[in-house]
Amino acid sequence: MKLSTLLVRSGINKQDATGAISTPIYHSATFMHRGLGLSTGFDYSRTQNPTRLQLEKAITQLEGGVDSLAFSSGMAAITAILTLFNPGDHIIISDDVYGGTYRVFDHVFSKYQLAFDCVDISDTENILKALKPNTAAIFIETPTNPMMKIADVKKIVDICKRHNLICIFDNTFLSVYLFRPLEIGVDIVIESATKYLSGHNDVLAGIVSTAREDLAEKLRFIQNTTGAVLSPTDSWLLLRGLKTLGIRLDRQQYNAMKIAQWLAKRPEITRVLYPGLPQHPGHHILKDLARGFGAMISFEVKDKTMVKTVLENLKIISFAESLGGVESLITYPIEQTHKDVPDELRKKIGLNDRLLRLSVGIEDSEDLIMDLQQALQCKPSHTQEV
Ligand SMILES: *Cc1c(COP(=O)(O)O)cnc(C)c1O
Repeated sequence: MKLSTLLVRSGINKQDATGAISTPIYHSATFMHRGLGLSTGFDYSRTQNPTRLQLEKAITQLEGGVDSLAFSSGMAAITAILTLFNPGDHIIISDDVYGGTYRVFDHVFSKYQLAFDCVDISDTENILKALKPNTAAIFIETPTNPMMKIADVKKIVDICKRHNLICIFDNTFLSVYLFRPLEIGVDIVIESATKYLSGHNDVLAGIVSTAREDLAEKLRFIQNTTGAVLSPTDSWLLLRGLKTLGIRLDRQQYNAMKIAQWLAKRPEITRVLYPGLPQHPGHHILKDLARGFGAMISFEVKDKTMVKTVLENLKIISFAESLGGVESLITYPIEQTHKDVPDELRKKIGLNDRLLRLSVGIEDSEDLIMDLQQALQCKPSHTQEV
């Protein structure tokens, strides 16, 4: 079955006694036993809940793994993965990972002696140079956030196999619809389901999938033990969101390409970072790797004073964090998502105070372009700095 069909059918349980097309929400914390040693398969909702199970099964099928777990946020999912490691282990991460991922490494896991190095993963040589005898894993994203760098994931998987490292891939930006990392040998895939998977900016969720039985068993144990599980209602919202992931992303990508091409011609814009543009340095790698280029665009305005003007004058596109939903959103990474990333690292990756990041939604692309055009043409008000 094709992925777009699987997506629509996810959540339909042919064994359901009532024939419900939409998965019922089981708001039950605990479940009765029929007798001593006679569990229904459900005992307590931290361990397993029927609504969450339906979602986890759907994700496993979509990802092509052996098991998946649903967490209460993307960060809860990443935290669960990191507890697989031991004090003294070393992890290589991309130098422009999601700000929250950097923060959990830097402020939380460093306390437990989990060491990490940030490298530019768009050149695999950098990864080879960063390898240490205690390196246990590589944690990557593609495209990266917000610099849209592309990693040659197949080469990184090879390095992991040769050096016996766990390859962890944050697939939030492309989602399972455009890229299935487990298929090419990634060990663990994580997605902030808050973004494309749910798609309506109405739920926080994180999912983890793996194609390795040994890791699946460990991750299930961690999920049940540490407890950041996804609630039944949120599991249902995510199941509902999944059904339209395919058509949403098709439209979002169509809009993103139009907008990126338009931005690339504007005199007010000095740089457009969108891997769908042929001039993007990672264009060919991503074309070979994934079924699409996603709908995230970063761009630099000519001078810093324009940032405030653009953000305050957009009429359709909302100035808000997050991404992946049906509504177009714009953020200012240096002040928002990447505030906790040290200045020095931000300089190294080229994240400056003129960079804006656009998450393209499903509105009409002409309206979005007109909105950007009028905001870019507004005169700056010289009253305040951003
Ligand atoms: C948002 C995001 C996360 C964190 O997910 P939450 O659901 O906000 O906890 C992790 N990785 C990436 C790439 C993200 O965009």
